[in-house]
Amino acid sequence: MVKYVYDFVEGDKSMKDLLGGKGANLAEMTNLGLPVPPGFTISTDACRAYLDAGAPPASLADEVTAALRRVEQTMGRTLGDATDPLLVSVRSGAKFSMPGMMETVLNVGLNDRSVAGLAAVSGNGRFAWDSYRRLIQMFGRTVLDLDGELFSEALEELKARRGVTADTDLTEEDLTGLVATYKDIVERATGSPFPQDPREQLDLATEAVFRSWNTERARVYRRRERIPDDLGTAVNVVAMVFGNMGETSGTGVCFTRDPSTGHSGVYGDYLPNAQGEDVVAGIRNTLTLADLEKLDKTSYDQLRAIMAKLETHYRDLCDIEFTIERGKLWMLQTRVGKRTPAAAFRVAIELADEGLITADEALTRVTGEQLTSLMFPQFDPEASKETLTRGTAASPGAAAGVIVFNNEQAEAAAKEGRRCVLVRRETNPDDLPGMVAAEGVLTARGGKTSHAAVVARGMGKTCVVGADALVINAAAGTVTVGERMLTAEDTISIDGQTGEVFLGAVPVVDSPVTTYLSHGLEAGLAAAGDDADTRELVTAVDRLLTRADEVRRLQVRANADTPNDSRNALAFGAEGIGLCRTEHMFLGARRQLVENAIVSEPGSAERQSAFDELERLQKQDYLEMLEVMDGKEMVVRLIDPPLHEFLPDLTKLEIRVAVDLATKGRADPDDLAMLVVARRLHEQNPMLGLRGVRLGIYMPGLNDLQVRALCEATAELAARGLHPKPEIMVPLVGSVRELRLLREKTEGIIAEVASRTGADLSAITVGAMIELPRAAVTADDLAAEADFFSFGTNDLTQTTWGFSRDDVESTFFNEYAEAGIFTVSPFESIDVDGVGELVRIAVEKARATKPGIKLGVCGEHGGDPDSVHFFHAVGLDYVSCSPFRVPVARLEAGRAAV
Ligand code: ADP
Ligand code: MG
Ligand code: MG
Repeated sequence: MVKYVYDFVEGDKSMKDLLGGKGANLAEMTNLGLPVPPGFTISTDACRAYLDAGAPPASLADEVTAALRRVEQTMGRTLGDATDPLLVSVRSGAKFSMPGMMETVLNVGLNDRSVAGLAAVSGNGRFAWDSYRRLIQMFGRTVLDLDGELFSEALEELKARRGVTADTDLTEEDLTGLVATYKDIVERATGSPFPQDPREQLDLATEAVFRSWNTERARVYRRRERIPDDLGTAVNVVAMVFGNMGETSGTGVCFTRDPSTGHSGVYGDYLPNAQGEDVVAGIRNTLTLADLEKLDKTSYDQLRAIMAKLETHYRDLCDIEFTIERGKLWMLQTRVGKRTPAAAFRVAIELADEGLITADEALTRVTGEQLTSLMFPQFDPEASKETLTRGTAASPGAAAGVIVFNNEQAEAAAKEGRRCVLVRRETNPDDLPGMVAAEGVLTARGGKTSHAAVVARGMGKTCVVGADALVINAAAGTVTVGERMLTAEDTISIDGQTGEVFLGAVPVVDSPVTTYLSHGLEAGLAAAGDDADTRELVTAVDRLLTRADEVRRLQVRANADTPNDSRNALAFGAEGIGLCRTEHMFLGARRQLVENAIVSEPGSAERQSAFDELERLQKQDYLEMLEVMDGKEMVVRLIDPPLHEFLPDLTKLEIRVAVDLATKGRADPDDLAMLVVARRLHEQNPMLGLRGVRLGIYMPGLNDLQVRALCEATAELAARGLHPKPEIMVPLVGSVRELRLLREKTEGIIAEVASRTGADLSAITVGAMIELPRAAVTADDLAAEADFFSFGTNDLTQTTWGFSRDDVESTFFNEYAEAGIFTVSPFESIDVDGVGELVRIAVEKARATKPGIKLGVCGEHGGDPDSVHFFHAVGLDYVSCSPFRVPVARLEAGRAAV
């Protein structure tokens, strides 16, 4: 029989699949001897069984009974007892933390009788009734699916009637009345009274937690975070301890280091006389840990000792939930804490410096995605700005946009392509869609651990919280700061690094990290100015990237078509060019030449003169590119796109001719000639048509002139004492015969130029771009004719799936993502099982024929973190990506190697 229930002493931190993150870590803390209230975890197996069958597995009830007995024995109290009740919390906890996504019910076990018992034993009636009203409120919302507003409105109304602002100002009598009101709300809305049986409460709450796995917001969150839908959540049943027992009690959240800057030294929020969610909900503004030290030195010292112990034990930044009940400290949760990208770099380096982790481990603690977000622009410090107010910096970045107050407005703005900033008093999980749609989030309440802050950090979204000068009237659609009133059409800018809120759209500049990446450490530090945190960050990025460069096996090249792109790529650390697309060089003013060549007769003087002119221009291009890339390899791809792309649009041309015929009785003879060619070359599926190597065979002159221009440029530079290293790549090869033809001709031209100029061009290589399944599966044959392969994974993805990239992303890909067919678009991250398998087969076959063949990739995937790991594992020699992604690829290639 499957075991579904585990006491905390039975688990440990490795058991996250079964016990969820919260349960596994509660178990770990219990076994470390930390003060964790007794409890047990109902496994994710039970959740999956429940969700499959719609009912709990048969044996679960007995296991819960037995585990509950053990907790009751330890505590010397019985669940919901009339004189001295044990209360429990029923807490969700999945393998991956999903902050605020799922449900928790506190104070389970209170009813009309046990509330009196709790009042008597605690000697604090106010506390007992406060706990009871919280239970009904949470239970109503979570288990009975009632609108939470029903309860919060009743509470606000009561406070207004009593003339108080804080919950804590309500008396025992007020709360007794509030409980009666809450019970009424429940009975009116559900038709049955609030359940009085403690065990029934426990079972219903457990099932509600199971069900919360499948709420819309949890699904949205998982899709975003790429968390599988079939994991399920565990349920933790924990003996209650009380932070709301009076002024010597309280509840808090803390981090062993600052999660927004990574600054070493603890960080936390504390709220006296409060329970659970109060801190996160931003109900009242919180105190700091330093304040706690003044209030309760003993608990504070003990907490600091535990924080140190946890950080050493987990060897990482931990976040912690704790509660103090009448001067006694209890640990309610810990986990390796979420952090901003900046904090991730800084913490990794500092943990390594402190000897807690190795330099290689430090590398695994940061990601390319984090580096990408550090490269986002920031507000220009030189720009003139009008400061509106200031809050707490909760998640870095620079966001500007029109004010929106709710999900609908945010989504509407995003749909119209307008940037927006979500402005709310505080956020809760229902605001997730708005947060996703907005550039940034601004709240009037709450601290760095509030819902808005935690979720925004997780999403890498700019966020400022606790800007308490803001008076937000969402219903009226206004925000007031002092005298000034803004509405939904006004633009604001929020700085997630400083917490500043500006009026209007502030211009942005490069981040110091980008300055470092493109101009070196000194420039990066100079850009950071005297901001110590930013200087530390730039240093940390430099050290981790340096380490990545030391350990990585993959070479990193860039895709660049112009001298300027190439210079950028070099600045970002590119070691060569993996793809230089020469067709870009045929556009603009030169388009006419290509057109002339296409329209004129093969072998005609017109065609030859167009070719000659193109050759002259291309030689110039290659001279410039090769000079910038001196000493580094540069893959030049022969012209690839369908010829008709160089001709006028067929439909427009047809209309023009038709109109001319109808109105003037005659059409322009040039138009007519062009129409004949355009019709001949027009294709229904150009992606599968006359392009790539096929062009080279159909109209050989184009390739010939490209190769000759390249060889002559190479010879000329070599004569000037430079070291050009071009590599010629033939696109869209499907058959070894195509490649052989092209290669023989190319080698002929190389030999001809070499003998004419006296240059040694023997180092120029010829290779194939692998972008058709046929090429991949015949790679052993192709390898015989190729010096190198480069996987064109964009086309390989199109041709393997039969998807047209230009169309599918705007048509059915959303539905595919919703239906779970992809977690991520195969154009963004390599489809390992399909496209990746073709790459793997091709690598194996190519090396079987030619062990030393050089293998790279030049699709969009070359700069995608997950894909880089795959290319490392499959044994490629290099990845090539857009210049801006080069640092990301360097970092990920390093991470893949450790
Ligand atoms: P979340 O995953 O949303 O943080 P939790 O299950 O951690 O939800 O619980 C919500 C809040 O209730 C937290 O602040 C937590 O510390 C508090 N809490 C949970 N269990 C208990 C308990 N047994 N005694 C006191 N407070 C609790
Ligand atoms: Mg929690
Ligand atoms: Mg291609």
